[in-house]
Amino acid sequence: MSIEYHHQHIHTLEDLEDGVSVFLRLDLNVPLRGDEITDDTRIRAALPTIKRLIEKKCKITIASHLGRPKGKVIAGESLLPVAQRLAELLDIEVVFPDDCIGTGVHKHLLDQQDDQIILLENLRFHADEEQNNAEFARKLKSKHHAYVSDAFGALHREHASTAALPKLFDKKYAGLLVEKELQALSRLIKTPSKPYSVVLGGAKISDKLKVVEALLKKADRIFLGGAMVFTFLKARGHRVGNSLVEEDMIPRAKKIMDQASDRGVSLFFPKDFYLGRSVEDPGEPQYCSSVSIPDGMMGLDIGPKTLAHFSEYLESSKTLFWNGPMGLFEKKPFHRGSFELATLISKCNAYRVVGGGDSVAAINQSGLADQVDHISTGGGASLEYIEKGGLPGLRALAS
Ligand code: ADP
Ligand code: MG
Repeated sequence: MSIEYHHQHIHTLEDLEDGVSVFLRLDLNVPLRGDEITDDTRIRAALPTIKRLIEKKCKITIASHLGRPKGKVIAGESLLPVAQRLAELLDIEVVFPDDCIGTGVHKHLLDQQDDQIILLENLRFHADEEQNNAEFARKLKSKHHAYVSDAFGALHREHASTAALPKLFDKKYAGLLVEKELQALSRLIKTPSKPYSVVLGGAKISDKLKVVEALLKKADRIFLGGAMVFTFLKARGHRVGNSLVEEDMIPRAKKIMDQASDRGVSLFFPKDFYLGRSVEDPGEPQYCSSVSIPDGMMGLDIGPKTLAHFSEYLESSKTLFWNGPMGLFEKKPFHRGSFELATLISKCNAYRVVGGGDSVAAINQSGLADQVDHISTGGGASLEYIEKGGLPGLRALAS
């Protein structure tokens, strides 16, 4: 089976022959405290593809980046703890060479037994990785027969292991996670069922501007919250107190509002807020029943009137995408708006996707993650896919 991609095709694992040697690019960039993994979600997300390749009796070499060592060997950014966790979770021997290229790796490849997998050391220990160096890609390729990518969260990067390397293979495939992400995200950009609602929040409008502009061409309703809404509210002439505003983005915010009205896209703004003194030390939340925030105070969450107003128009949606928390959800009780939005979304009868690092953290914490259709773990990659309809790492997989 294959996935259509801009008049080309990306093969899936069903097309992969049994028993071949596979270079498997994963996103095992997990958070570490010392050598302890504090969240192994990304490792667990990769297991179905690894297991499928084991079932197919493939010889597997796994590669990933971790952190930002910027071309230097940094002990604290070794993948060793990941090798140990993989061995535990798969109950298999994981061979861990101390580099991702070179004679040591070759020797392990030659000696590899059927019941062993190889995990290469951090790709970013070589500056060539981020420079998309073709020679480095050739060294990574070594004698591998096929390339499989399941590193969805890294596909917006034009790096050696995601861009130059797959181009060197005739046989290349998307893993199960990439397949699932593409199925879900393409429903948001190809022919979304209407009405199509988008809820946008989060910290900075400058990070999201291009996605918002792209979504104006697809969505019917856009609901705005989080810190980024204050740039819009200031552009509309409201008092925003000390809330986070990106002054230099006010003209772009005005342009977005004009474009929305030209295209018949409805924009929904908050009607009330919970306020605090600052992000670092918000103090007790103070309720503000209107969009007029007193001097010295910051809007840190949306209020009940806003949620009731949003709810009315969210309910009838047929497609729904949520990116960006509605408030300072890391500090209780300013998580309430985001959690209650998660509840509203869980009750909608729409095709629902949640994407973005913090938005996914918020819905996971609310305990409602299993109530939506798709949680996109890609962060930057999912937003760029929605914005541009493609990614460098997907282009390199297509043929
Ligand atoms: P995502 O990772 O889901 O794309 P962002 O990174 O854009 O989301 O934004 C998440 C951050 O925005 C969180 O740290 C959250 O605390 C912050 N945030 C949301 N609303 C506010 C607000 N009103 N004031 C300050 N920070 C906020
Ligand atoms: Mg974030």
